[in-house]
Amino acid sequence: MIKALTTAYTMLSKHGFADIMQNSVTGEKSLHATAFFDKEETICCFAADQVLELPTYLTVQTGENRHITLQPEFLQYINHSCNPNVFFNTTTMELVALKEIQPGDELLFFYPSTEWDMVQPFDCYCSSSNCLHRIKGAAHLSETEAAQYRLTDFIHEQLQKRTKK
Ligand SMILES: [Zn+2]
Repeated sequence: MIKALTTAYTMLSKHGFADIMQNSVTGEKSLHATAFFDKEETICCFAADQVLELPTYLTVQTGENRHITLQPEFLQYINHSCNPNVFFNTTTMELVALKEIQPGDELLFFYPSTEWDMVQPFDCYCSSSNCLHRIKGAAHLSETEAAQYRLTDFIHEQLQKRTKK
């Protein structure tokens, strides 16, 4: 942890249980835990700041044509990974630890766990053994891929509609 902090990251700001860090090489911002969280522990609650009909790169999808910006705002710095350690439960509005998180760990969520059909797909370089490489939203996951992840109730509903078609 210390090595990563001193070689690659600059701390931008502190937010209680997490710090916003910036990668000195790529300039990418990320959110890192400052405390230990157990698997299934609620890290914090979140709320909708703005509710939008169309997604932006900062929004989290909570329903069809319903996309929220996050409050607390610093949660927007949680980046994508195909091997996530947190989950945005948009039913209970809680950010949940999917596995044990150590102080210093980057908080990462699986974008398709909340996003159905992304307007701005991107290439993933998370280097997880199960990396999907192209992230386009849950609508583009196979049943096998979808089964590997915790997904929001909204995404489960969409997947059920998809199989009925
Ligand atoms: Zn990946």
